[in-house]
Amino acid sequence: MHDFAAKLRQPSLWPHVVDYLKWQRALRAAVAEGRSLPQTPALVPLSINLDLTTACNYACDHCIDWDILNQPTKHLEQELVDSIRLMAARGLKSIILIGGGEPTLYPGFVSFVRMAKELGLQIAVVSNGSRNEKILEIAPYLDERDWVRLSLDSGTNATFQRMHNPSKKSLTLDEICAWIPKIREVNPKPTLGFSFIITWRGAQRDDVKVVENLDEIVLATERARNAGFSYISFKPFLERSDKGSEVMDPEHAEEELAGVLRRIRVLVDEAKKLERPGFRVLESTNLRLLMENRWREYTNQPHVCHFQALRQVLSPIGTYNCPAYRGVGYAKVGEKDAYKDEANLARTSSATEGLLRHFDAAKECREVTCLYNGANWWLERLIESGTDLDTVELAEERRDWFL
Ligand code: SF4
Repeated sequence: MHDFAAKLRQPSLWPHVVDYLKWQRALRAAVAEGRSLPQTPALVPLSINLDLTTACNYACDHCIDWDILNQPTKHLEQELVDSIRLMAARGLKSIILIGGGEPTLYPGFVSFVRMAKELGLQIAVVSNGSRNEKILEIAPYLDERDWVRLSLDSGTNATFQRMHNPSKKSLTLDEICAWIPKIREVNPKPTLGFSFIITWRGAQRDDVKVVENLDEIVLATERARNAGFSYISFKPFLERSDKGSEVMDPEHAEEELAGVLRRIRVLVDEAKKLERPGFRVLESTNLRLLMENRWREYTNQPHVCHFQALRQVLSPIGTYNCPAYRGVGYAKVGEKDAYKDEANLARTSSATEGLLRHFDAAKECREVTCLYNGANWWLERLIESGTDLDTVELAEERRDWFL
């Protein structure tokens, strides 16, 4: 899932990447020789995180986007449709509906998904599970490459409610999970995931202590399997750094960190015994790195982050270079209408070029355990080495376009 270099070498994506690499080489050569710069091409990302809304009906103690929720700014429906149509015509292949907000609260959620599927885009939805009737409504439009992931983070109703504080106080994990068989009945093709962010004693967001859920890893896995999810995925809790980026800061664990990690290892291994055909237990890349004590390796980024041109975040509060910098002013490439027409596209491409030249990822992202680290270095080496791009071995076409 996180082998982004292999994804980019799929025959369906590689020509777009080659265009980008050739332009980067030309740009660097012009800078080195003091010549005028080549014209900036239309830099449309292959994949976007799209925040349909910043509204949320939960108040999760561990929410990484707490400061940008429930803003008055909203997408204008036609502007959003125009933006997606233009981007799809210029190379966009996939959309992850996520947030910064609960996507199913967007009034045009169902019609948006239908429109995006008509354009041939892959769609993923990350939802809090509170409005699964909306997931049921979009289910007929999804196919086997699309996925829905519910952020549930608990194995008991009590922990679910303490962690998420849903506005409908009576909402339970039981009620949310009961929708899964109904969704499957409408359409068995899309992958349905149960996401579990592992929190530990001492973890906190700003001054808020986060509820510990570590002991419910196995219970949640049983629940996910019995409900009919395709998988449960475990990730470590992230915080926002003082500069706004998403970082992993396990040093805040109240017990000795090594002890916390040992407990996680034992519990995830126990959970893995519950795997069966059609149900998997997944560890996120950053959880694996944390447990192998290798997470600092992924904080060593090249100076140029190439993923700023290949994957961006479009939200009602603006368009950003990376999900880790959602809502951060200096990482903005445009407003919510950044791709609504050719004129805005040209301005946004210039802004993206500006960040590619001046946003020093080696410095700015040195606290971020970046999942794109390996692929970014691979792209950097392809540019600098002058390798004949026609000789790069293509990867198997999996039609997996999510970045
Ligand atoms: S290096 Fe990683 S964290 Fe930094 S902007 Fe790029 S993708 Fe985001």
